[in-house]
Amino acid sequence: MQNPPQSPFDKGGARSNYYETISNSVALSFLSVKPCLTLTCYNMSMWRVIGQKRAVGLLEHSLAKGQVAHAYLLVGPPHVGKMTLALDIAEVLNCTASAPPCGDCPSCQRIAAGSHADVQVIALGSNVNGEGKAHAEISIDRIREMQHVASLPPFEGKSKVFIIAGAEYLSLEAANCLLKTLEEPAAKVIFLLLTANERLLPGTVVSRCQRLELAPLPVAEIETALQERWGMPLEKARLLARLAHGCLGWAVSATLDDRLLQARTERLAKLGEIIDDSYETRFGYAAQLAAQFGDNREAVFEVLDLWLDWWRDLLLAKISNGDMITNIDITDSLKERAALYSVARIRSMIGSIQSAREQLKLNANHRLVLEVLMLDMPGQKEVK
Ligand SMILES: [Zn+2]
Repeated sequence: MQNPPQSPFDKGGARSNYYETISNSVALSFLSVKPCLTLTCYNMSMWRVIGQKRAVGLLEHSLAKGQVAHAYLLVGPPHVGKMTLALDIAEVLNCTASAPPCGDCPSCQRIAAGSHADVQVIALGSNVNGEGKAHAEISIDRIREMQHVASLPPFEGKSKVFIIAGAEYLSLEAANCLLKTLEEPAAKVIFLLLTANERLLPGTVVSRCQRLELAPLPVAEIETALQERWGMPLEKARLLARLAHGCLGWAVSATLDDRLLQARTERLAKLGEIIDDSYETRFGYAAQLAAQFGDNREAVFEVLDLWLDWWRDLLLAKISNGDMITNIDITDSLKERAALYSVARIRSMIGSIQSAREQLKLNANHRLVLEVLMLDMPGQKEVK
């Protein structure tokens, strides 16, 4: 039986990355690269994705010609706007206004609310086992279930849209099962595969999708968007735009969830502690991170990324006027710290963190890697 439609919010707050812009559109009667026989006015200003001119331009071109592919692969780093763009596409295809997407008709509203019967999000978070825990991969059963729903005509809209968020988490069986559907596309059905790492997807699946790459946004574009669309004060917008590393979704999430900035503050404080403290303290923290790596490796990579930013900031504080600093709210303390070390020592530490990251990705002994990193880290009283 058909499951109730999954909410776009199911994938780790993916809908919270729902910013970004777009516009124009067409009421597409059919998909699968067939010409549209009716002229429709597009309302590109209603698209929510911000930036991403290349991907949006490709879509606009397809829409204008009435030629929409049956499957797209949206590629880009986490929080860059893939889900936002996918939902924009879903709205364009199902909007009932004369200039879709209007953002206002019942169809657009239900898609935005995650309650449209013909728009489903398939993701790790929407797939739980008998113990209520999320599966580590998107299973073949979930894809078969989706295929069954896809075989039925649209329930309330014009097109069925299936958004597979985190497509790299498809099990091999699930990906092969999906492949059959991609090879024999049905009318009025479109698949949007979202991934931060397309190399983990089988080439056969990738080759059957039209690829849309979403690139990190410039700092200035994020800063402007945060102020104009989210009404954020200049000071906070400036900081978040830098911490976001091109991924607007992260910045918006940070405005909605104080814990993200709180975690950053705690991690920065911890970094200061381990620089100032003994090797015993450092190894204790290395053991703590190593234990965490088993359960939540992403959290450990977040810590290392923050360290990388901090050491790069030291370098910038030392050799420039600091315009490019990421952690602009602690510029004074960065300058004080930078005075303790030589440029060569800071560069060496940046290299050590990058090397540790790579080794952890290659599944080296993570405790050993982290301990070596602690040994490489200069102390507070390092001689310049
Ligand atoms: Zn609409």
